[in-house]
Amino acid sequence: MEKSIESFDVVIVGGGVSGLSAAVYLSNKNYKVALVEQNRILGGRTNSFINNKFGDEVDNGQHVMMGCYFDTLNYLRLIGAIDGCYIQQKLSIVFRLKNNKEFKLQASNLPSPFHILTGILRLKEFTFSEKISLIKVGLVIKNINTNDNYLQNLTVEDWLNSLNQTEKLKKYIWNIISIATLNESTKNVSALLFLKILKEIFFGKKSNSAMIIPRNGLSKLFVEKGISFIEENGGGVFNQTEITNYKIKRNEISEVSLSNKVKLSTKGLILTIPYYAIKNNPINIFYPKIDFNKHFISSAIITIHLWFEGKWLNEKFVALVDSPLHWIFNHSAIKEDYSQSRQYISIVISGANLLISKSKSEIFNMTIKELEKFYPASKNHKLLDWKVIKEKRATFSPTIGLDKWRPSAITKMENVFLAGDWTDTQLPATIEGGIKSGFIAAKLFEEKVTTY
Ligand SMILES: Cc1cc2nc3c(=O)[nH]c(=O)nc-3n(C[C@H](O)[C@H](O)[C@H](O)COP(=O)(O)OP(=O)(O)OC[C@H]3O[C@@H](n4cnc5c(N)ncnc54)[C@H](O)[C@@H]3O)c2cc1C
Repeated sequence: MEKSIESFDVVIVGGGVSGLSAAVYLSNKNYKVALVEQNRILGGRTNSFINNKFGDEVDNGQHVMMGCYFDTLNYLRLIGAIDGCYIQQKLSIVFRLKNNKEFKLQASNLPSPFHILTGILRLKEFTFSEKISLIKVGLVIKNINTNDNYLQNLTVEDWLNSLNQTEKLKKYIWNIISIATLNESTKNVSALLFLKILKEIFFGKKSNSAMIIPRNGLSKLFVEKGISFIEENGGGVFNQTEITNYKIKRNEISEVSLSNKVKLSTKGLILTIPYYAIKNNPINIFYPKIDFNKHFISSAIITIHLWFEGKWLNEKFVALVDSPLHWIFNHSAIKEDYSQSRQYISIVISGANLLISKSKSEIFNMTIKELEKFYPASKNHKLLDWKVIKEKRATFSPTIGLDKWRPSAITKMENVFLAGDWTDTQLPATIEGGIKSGFIAAKLFEEKVTTY
């Protein structure tokens, strides 16, 4: 049976960080928001659940942010969740090698960009000429014009080769940064996007390069207080449902019907669903006629969560050099009140398309063997529990030429706007890209509605 029509200022589709940020922004401006999500839980690619054995919040995948995630930090402040983050004062990363050795990249207290330059000069793993070579690349990045056409056709690898970066520098530094920021190794991705990000991270404010790590599970950090914020401001969250039909009047959407038979009248629509969910969806008419599945290639991330008896790692997080495992995150050190008797760590494998078809136990076995090469002490600690989470479509791969296929927030309809980490944000597929896109779409909606 059809239910009666509920009236909202705006309907936002998709409850990931893009949809949540658009909804929170507009709720804060006193618009009555309806947020529509297909799944039972909101959060999309940022969600968490509780581990039955220890009661820990476990993320679908470990997420890291940086000081230059300006919109993300604004979102977290707005919903009152910023305390759920560990925020470094300045960049400091430990790089671990297989022979029990490690080196640290640590920014100094000098103003930007000298904070990083001094950090590079202090790297004990590299020769003087390697350090000078890194600094030269830094100067190139600082002065590069990202509008130069030639950059559009270069991979990160081509670009690094053009600057005579040695295999060691690529392996120890550049590949790790590429994997961390673009979820792909240097060989597959566009130099243009890479350079834009590096410029922001290393040549913006000193705090831009600091790492930010969630202390709370992703659902607690991004979702729960976001939902409360929307509801406390008069909005509604409709989960386990999707748009099945809509009404258009004079090139404007005026009503949507949901699969749960609810109808929502609205002054506008913001769509934040991922590129792989558009085909065969009734709302695909609002998108440009592009074969998204052809142009957008997904890149996987695998997270291996491990619980050990006792502790063998002190650092909050560590980058592994020359390993299929890329990062280790130590929740026992990130969460100050974590139990002293066990260690909960998450290991991240980014750009994981080649491993994604392996079984979870194969991935687990490979991880344990590899971990023991980097941290022989881990062998002496009983493993209490483990979980492997494979996210096949974690991000899009920022391949050469992809920019021209990323749609802007504006559509051919007067009051329909697009968002999502994959839309044209000039950022890679990140939380910051998603939240930025949500804010852009919300601001466009606001401009339109006030002109009514
Ligand atoms: C394992 C993993 C690790 C990551 N690591 C990092 C990291 O370290 N740092 C970082 O910044 N980023 C990271 N990312 C990327 C980041 O999570 C994403 O860029 C971001 O969450 C995308 O948000 P979104 O809202 O654009 O999309 P999504 O989170 O995909 O949200 C879209 C929502 O739309 C819903 N939906 C789809 N179709 C419909 C429909 N028809 N009707 C209603 N709802 C619909 C979906 O269910 C989903 O909830 C990682 C991602 C993964 C998976």
